[in-house]
Amino acid sequence: MTLYSHSRIESFFQCPLKFKFQYIEKIKVPFHQSIEAFMGSRVHETFEYLYKLVQHTKIPLQQELIDFYKKKWKQNWNNNIVIVKQGLTKENYFNLGIKCIKNYYQKNHPFNDGLTIGIEKRILIDLDGTGKYKVQGFIDRLVEKKPGFFEIHDYKTVSNLPDQIKAEEDRQLALYAIGLEQEFNEVNEVELIWHFVVFGKTAKSKRTKQQLTELKKETISRIKEIESCNKFNSNPSILCNWCKFQCICPEFKHQKETENLPANKYLNEAGVVLANKFIELKNKETEIKTELSLVKEAVIAFAKEKNYSVIKGSNGKLSITQTKSLKLPKKDSKEYEKLELLLQKINALNETSSLDQTKIKEFLKKKENKQIEKLLEENEMTTVRVGKK
Ligand code: SF4
Repeated sequence: MTLYSHSRIESFFQCPLKFKFQYIEKIKVPFHQSIEAFMGSRVHETFEYLYKLVQHTKIPLQQELIDFYKKKWKQNWNNNIVIVKQGLTKENYFNLGIKCIKNYYQKNHPFNDGLTIGIEKRILIDLDGTGKYKVQGFIDRLVEKKPGFFEIHDYKTVSNLPDQIKAEEDRQLALYAIGLEQEFNEVNEVELIWHFVVFGKTAKSKRTKQQLTELKKETISRIKEIESCNKFNSNPSILCNWCKFQCICPEFKHQKETENLPANKYLNEAGVVLANKFIELKNKETEIKTELSLVKEAVIAFAKEKNYSVIKGSNGKLSITQTKSLKLPKKDSKEYEKLELLLQKINALNETSSLDQTKIKEFLKKKENKQIEKLLEENEMTTVRVGKK
């Protein structure tokens, strides 16, 4: 039995290949951490430190927290931390972390919103009551407001502020609410609270019993989908910029293997040569197609003016023919519905099998029907064919 976590499940739905590298093949790649994750961890550590002091009746000064954050930043910093966003520096993220701490401090001081009964509290969720589908998670801070009334607090250091709908749809904290109900005897109400500390704002949400039951079912079916998967496709997205598996992922492997080659070797590398040749030919193809359509128009105009249906060149000849075709009304249009009704009425749908242009045309050849003809536009097309001399 696999012990899942919210992020493990989400990772599959974000990119199945990344999930396979991470959780099935457990591939070890050189240490790689994004600066966003690094800064987030330092801010979380600072809040953990804050509430441990509060539990011991000490309310630290804002500056004490900032000093703690600075110390942790310095202790943990290493050169494998990656800054993906262009134009931002280590200092920008460092200062953003300080802003998060100040925002939170000023909004929540003196930190007496209830009894903190858990910090980074591990929670286990048994989804079907048999232990077959288990999810574990860590609650940033668990608060008991009064007996039976709990709050699950989560700190977010993301730089985008989601709307309320996102809070209502969030699965992670709702799963933790299920875990609480399983762990504590008396749980009357659970409130889910997200602190978007970059903005100094919070989002709150509650779930009904019915919603939690639905979530359990949905999570089981998501786990079943993961466990029955046998084709872990890549799903490239903006999140690839933060993926540590780029060096082995087929989407980026060639780029990674060639990006540091010296210019002369890079330009002669087999993949680079092939890609460049293909792109060159494709571009030529587009140019030729555009030119061909202009020459075709000129041929048609010339043939019409001179009343020619064949134009002879020294290497072959061009045959210019005009054909008429029927154009069906657009699907979902009133005309389309009318046509369908008319064909049904005269039992013609069997003969035409569906609203197939060619079959309807054949049908009309056999049986004239003015009403149907009225619904069909006639398209005139001129074709130019190349023939031998
Ligand atoms: S780089 Fe992108 S596509 Fe490749 S495994 Fe990572 S997330 Fe998936």
